[in-house]
Amino acid sequence: MIQITLPLGFLGTVYREIRQALVDMGQMFGLLAQPAEVKDKPGAPELKVGGGEVVFDSVQFGYDPERIILKGISLTVAAGETVALVGPSGSGKSTIGRLLFRFYDVNAGAVRIDGQDLRDVTQDSLHARIGVVPQDTVLFNDTVFYNIAYGRPDASREEVEAAARAAKIHDFIQGLPEGYETKVGERGLKLSGGEKQRVGIARTLLKNPPILLLDEATSALDTQTERDIQDSLKEMGQGRTVITIAHRLSTIADADRIVVLEEGRIIEEGRHDALLAQGGRYAAMWARQSSEEEEEAA
Ligand code: ATP
Repeated sequence: MIQITLPLGFLGTVYREIRQALVDMGQMFGLLAQPAEVKDKPGAPELKVGGGEVVFDSVQFGYDPERIILKGISLTVAAGETVALVGPSGSGKSTIGRLLFRFYDVNAGAVRIDGQDLRDVTQDSLHARIGVVPQDTVLFNDTVFYNIAYGRPDASREEVEAAARAAKIHDFIQGLPEGYETKVGERGLKLSGGEKQRVGIARTLLKNPPILLLDEATSALDTQTERDIQDSLKEMGQGRTVITIAHRLSTIADADRIVVLEEGRIIEEGRHDALLAQGGRYAAMWARQSSEEEEEAA
């Protein structure tokens, strides 16, 4: 990522916020350049989030009108609920995340947060209310402090430290040669995958969004680190509405609800145990993944 320093403070802040949203989402969904096809309506109000209920109401969507990807998704994520999206590669999990962020508009149906159609509110206010924790947090060639404060550039030193404490990275940072002033990133100290994730968690905690979109890491971390990170993510999810895009099933077994997608449709949903007992697609995916993990461990 190329660092550009803008001399104008105000513009710099706006620019950083936009860049943050785009960098995080870009990371999350492998998008580099987004078509600027989505625009705010003139005079659109800001999104007002109370509990943070997310509704996909009969959503149809295709990147290309000839090829419909989401074929009528109806999904209500209650305020404070944690829902995990699972399904084969290409089934539409990330697309649902992109629509929640309104990178694209739906072809039919609607996406609503607390009753407000995303097309009717400003994108800035929408992006400010959704925290994204990508698989791989981008670190800038700057201090640890900057990298965490990036979640909210006007945050005080105390607030940044509180976020780092909650993300369980404060002690590690204190032990660095220059503490919070230590330079990290490509041209500074290299952090491990787990440490980077914790910086990402601290960043998001600082932003304090009511809605979280998590793109679960595939396999970059060792098991213990991953468990610790999962615990931190779970803690962060308390009192927030969470949508997790899951690539592996082992980490989402305790989600409030698991939604199984296939070819752009919801084919099963329920809690882990209920889905296993049902003996359907999820149960088959679980059995397959468990045996693969056993093979890897052998
Ligand atoms: P994975 O687990 O592999 O990340 P996924 O379930 O998240 O998969 P999506 O990324 O939502 O799947 O993709 C759903 C479908 O949409 C795929 O067939 C994909 O090829 C297509 N698709 C994704 N992004 C674009 C795009 N920018 N333009 C056109 N088609 C796209």
